[in-house]
Parts: sequence; C-alpha cells; structure tokens
Amino acid sequence: MKDTFKHQGMRQQLVETLINKGIKDKGVLKAIGKIPRHLFMDSGFIDHAYQDKAFPIAADQTISQPYTVAFQSELLQIEPGHKVLEIGTGSGYQTAVLLELGARVYSIERQQELFKKTSKFLPKLGYRAKSLIFGDGYKGMPVEAPFQSIIVTAGAPFVPNPLLSQLAIGGRLVIPVGDDVQVMTLFIRKGPKDFEKHEFGDFRFVPMLEDKN
Ligand code: SAH
Repeated sequence: MKDTFKHQGMRQQLVETLINKGIKDKGVLKAIGKIPRHLFMDSGFIDHAYQDKAFPIAADQTISQPYTVAFQSELLQIEPGHKVLEIGTGSGYQTAVLLELGARVYSIERQQELFKKTSKFLPKLGYRAKSLIFGDGYKGMPVEAPFQSIIVTAGAPFVPNPLLSQLAIGGRLVIPVGDDVQVMTLFIRKGPKDFEKHEFGDFRFVPMLEDKN
C-alpha cells in the first residue's frame, strides 16, 4: 500500500484533466487530488489508475471514471456533516470522496465479495463510513433516513420511490437513469410531495440489479 511522489504527480495531472472537462468544485478536486485511486484497483490495472477511465474491480463491477465521480459529487453540493447515502459501494473510491468532503456516509453494496473486501480496505486507509451494509440499494436505508443527499453509482432502470422518500426536504438525489445509456438526473426535494428534476446528459454505468447473489 504505497503512495509515491510519482502517484501524487499523476493525480495532479488527473485533477488538471477534470478542470479542463469542466469540474469546478474545489472540495471535489482536492479530494481527487488526495485519494490514492491506484490502491482501490486490482494490481493489473494500477498503472492506469490516473487515467480518466473506468476499470474492472471484483465481481464484474467497475470503479467509476474519475470524471463521473467528480460530476456526481459536484451535483450533490455536500457540506461538512451532511448525512449522505450511497448506493453501490463498489471499490469504495466514491465513498472516500464523500468522506473527504466531510459527509457522514452510509453505503449499500449488493455484491457480497465487494462488500467484504471494501469494508476491510477503507478503514486501512483511514476512511470510516458511518455504515457499510450488504443489501439492496433499491430499498435505501429507511432506519437512517432522512438524508441530505443520495447518490446512486449504478445505472438505474427507473427511479426507486424509497430513495425519493428518504430525502430530507431540500435534499438532493443524483441518479443515472436508463438501460443501456443513462441520463444523469438530479432530484431536489422541495416539499413532502414536490420534487424538482434536472437532467445532465448521457453516462454509462454497470446496471443496478435487483436480485442479490
Ligand atoms: N462507487 C463505486 C462504483 C461501483 S460500480 C466505485 O467507485 O467503485 C456500481 C456498484 O453498484 C457495483 O459495485 C454493484 O455491485 C453495485 N450495485 C448494483 N446494484 C445494486 C443494488 N441494487 N444495491 C446496491 N448496490 C448495487
């Protein structure tokens, strides 16, 4: 588990790339400049860790492209202390970004293998989520609701109602919606039954699946 000057240099180049692609949030850029993404990947891909690309992790899943992580994180407008729910813990990289932003993070993963691996790995790097659970993100985490933000990191065929209902008033849900291609969608809860919807173009994610294995 080494982080060298070479890695730090490559990370700064990645940050520059993200700025050139339009990411502005200083906190998000700082987090990406700090987190050793290479340690979240399987050894075969470590040399590519600071390219702006998604890569395979365990259980046929992927670590999201840094631009996508930055784009979603920026839309969440996180402030220190915010309670944030993440669907799709995966490698834990997005979780680490949320923690760097000062969020109190609750995260759900439906692949047992990834859940186990990432639950052990994140604390080794000093990243402590409030709760990492093995379960179905379609249901959200009702016992911990409401959340100031909810982020879904898998492609959702539809918007799960439990996620909308677990948002605090004023809260933000960022979710890629669609089957083969997903539209990045932001919902802002204006009132108990009042949601404002914004769309931000096409992205590609691994699918959000309903049945556990
Ligand atoms: N944020 C992760 C992205 C991983 S890819 C990272 O940066 O590494 C999406 C993740 O969502 C996968 O790990 C996948 O197993 C998980 N996932 C898919 N459907 C899910 C569901 N219904 N509930 C929770 N997690 C789910």
